Order: sequence, then structure tokens, then C-alpha cells
Amino acid sequence: MRMMWGIKAPLVLLWLCLLIPAGLDLYRHRHFDLTIVAGPGVTRVERLSDYGPHLKGTVGDTLVFVLEGKEKGGKALVMANTHANEPEGLLAALIFIENAVVEKGTLFIIPQFNHSASRNTKPGDGYPLYFQVRTEWGKKKFRMGNRDASPLDQWPDPDVYIHYPDRQLLSFIDARNTNRTWPGRPNGLLMERVTFAAMELMRREKVDIAIDIHGAETMFPVTNCIVAPEKSIRIATMAALTVKAKEGFDSHVEPSPTGFRGLSHREIGDYAEAMPFLLEAPIPFLDQPTGPKTEKLLLDGKDPFLLRLSRKKKLFVPYDESGWPLEKRVGQHCSLTLEILRQHARRNPDRAIVVLGVPSYGDVLKNGVGHYFHDPERAERSRVHMN
Ligand SMILES: [Zn+2]
Repeated sequence: MRMMWGIKAPLVLLWLCLLIPAGLDLYRHRHFDLTIVAGPGVTRVERLSDYGPHLKGTVGDTLVFVLEGKEKGGKALVMANTHANEPEGLLAALIFIENAVVEKGTLFIIPQFNHSASRNTKPGDGYPLYFQVRTEWGKKKFRMGNRDASPLDQWPDPDVYIHYPDRQLLSFIDARNTNRTWPGRPNGLLMERVTFAAMELMRREKVDIAIDIHGAETMFPVTNCIVAPEKSIRIATMAALTVKAKEGFDSHVEPSPTGFRGLSHREIGDYAEAMPFLLEAPIPFLDQPTGPKTEKLLLDGKDPFLLRLSRKKKLFVPYDESGWPLEKRVGQHCSLTLEILRQHARRNPDRAIVVLGVPSYGDVLKNGVGHYFHDPERAERSRVHMN
């Protein structure tokens, strides 16, 4: 017996030596807050739980930045980090929060929609826990999240996830994916409560336009596109054609499938008046056959394996030595969001949402993403938010 302990005790000690430092890194990541400086256009900051009290006190709750124009008009909701491992959406949303000024109408922006997923990671894929963007005042640090909410916040997973209310059977992991839990319900799983609160925001505020910003693999056909259901497809098509003509980048239109439930571009349009749009920019980091999942790959999108696959015509987007840098992905999202709002304004002048101060694709390519972030140290204390 004593001999058994003689072997076991050092092994337990070794196990603890490995577990504690790794656990501390994950603990620090989960508790690291992102600093957001509310720009000149932000008139108030709410919480998603203001629209769904069942979220209060949970990690599902998140900040909602409201930018109101002097003149009344329409309303738009912009969501990012539905999938928290697609940072181009988060960065585009932050550029709006820190720089946009709304002349007419109201803009609601939820930069970290799946807040729990933004505090999760994917250790099996070797995800970096953080990434940094260079600015004129130093580097701005971000949490790198995962596609799904953390099991610490929603657990156990069901064997099969039964979508509410359609009862379509979906993969168990999609119960933690906020792009499968729309339209949600107030007393359901935490992620169903998150999407339900956003539906309530859109119904109560009479939101006209809802834009959900993502990134997608270069080997996945639904990439570099705007996904739109029937009610949004005319505006999506005009936006895609206009950015191509004016700014020279491609983003094709994909019709939202009617039989596949739980997605924002389907359920928002069916359960609220709003016209939904989902934006996808190519993010090589998410493709399976790449080198290590480094911060560099996340930022510059350069990978030798994808380059070889591109020569064999296996990718759905053009790909060369220049990769798919962050500036390109974020710039596309800024321009497409602005163009969707402009196209909506042309058709509905009374419900227009007029936004100034946001850079276009060309501006972000020229100046970089970090150029549009403000130094929290120099900002007024009341304008600095942690989420
Ligand atoms: Zn996504």
C-alpha cells in the first residue's frame, strides 16, 4: 500500500503542476474584459437583459450601444460575435461604436452578441487566447472566443438539439450556437434566451434592418457573401452591386434557405418586421487544412496550404500570397453595412438611417483597423465600457 502511494503521490503532484498553470491561463482569459470607448455618436448604453429580464445576472447578458440621430427615422440593429471566433465582425462593430455619428434614425449595436462564446476557447485546435491590433497609441488587446457558448454557462448538452418552435432536429452542439437558436424563448436554454431578448428588442423598437456580421471558411461555399431571405434580397442585391461598382470588391448574394431553422437570416424576418442580412467575409483561420492556428494567421490570413489548395481550385474565393488580411475583411463589413442602410434609405426615406463618420473599405485598407480605435486612457471615464 505504502509503495503504491510512493508512485501515486509524485504523479498527482506532476498532474497538478500541469493543470494549475494551464487552468490559470483559461481563468484569466474568461475574466479578461474588452475595453470599448463609446464614440461621439453613442447616446446611451443598455444591456440586452433590458429586453429579456431572464438574462439578468447571467453571462448571456451583454452591452447594447445606442446611437440616436437628432432627426427621427428608421432603426437598425447590428450584431457581431454571434460566432466569437470570427473577429472581423466584432472589429467592424467597434469601428461603428467608436466613430459613427447618426444624423437620422437610430442604430443599436451589440458587439459581443454571444458573450459566453467570447469567454470560451477551443484548446483542441490550439486557438490563441488573445489577439492584438496595432493602433497609433499602442496595441489593443482582444479576447479570442469560440463559435459556441461555454459549457460552463450552458450544460449539459442534449443528445439532439430540438429547435424551438419548429422542432427540427439539429446537432447537439448547435444548442450553444446563437446562429441556430433564433427566435428563442424566454424560459429556454441560455442561448435561446439571448436570441429571444434580441427578438424582443427588434419587436419593441420596431427595427427595420438587422445585420448579423460573420466570417466564414474559404473552402465553404457560403463565404464572401450577403445571406438574405426573400424580403431582404432586393436590398442585398443592390448593396452587392453598388460596392462592386464603387469600391471594387465582390460579395455575392446567397438566398436564405427556407427549410433550415434557427438562423438569424431566416427567423428574424419570420418573427419580426425587420429585414435581416447576414454578412460573411472569408477568414482563412477557420479553414481546417491550415498550418498552426496562430494570431498571425488570424490577422493576415496567409497560409501555404490554402495557397496550394487555391491552385487546385478548391477554394470558393480568390486566394494568393497576400492572404485575406483583417483590413480587407473588416473594410468589406463596414462598406456593406453602410450600403445596406443607404439602399434601405433610398426606398424608405421616412425610415432612413443616416450614418456618418464610418470608414469605407478603401479607408480601412489604407489606414488599417487600429487607426479607428481610441485610446481608453485619454477618453473620458464615463465613455469607457468593459464587456
Ligand atoms: Zn459565423
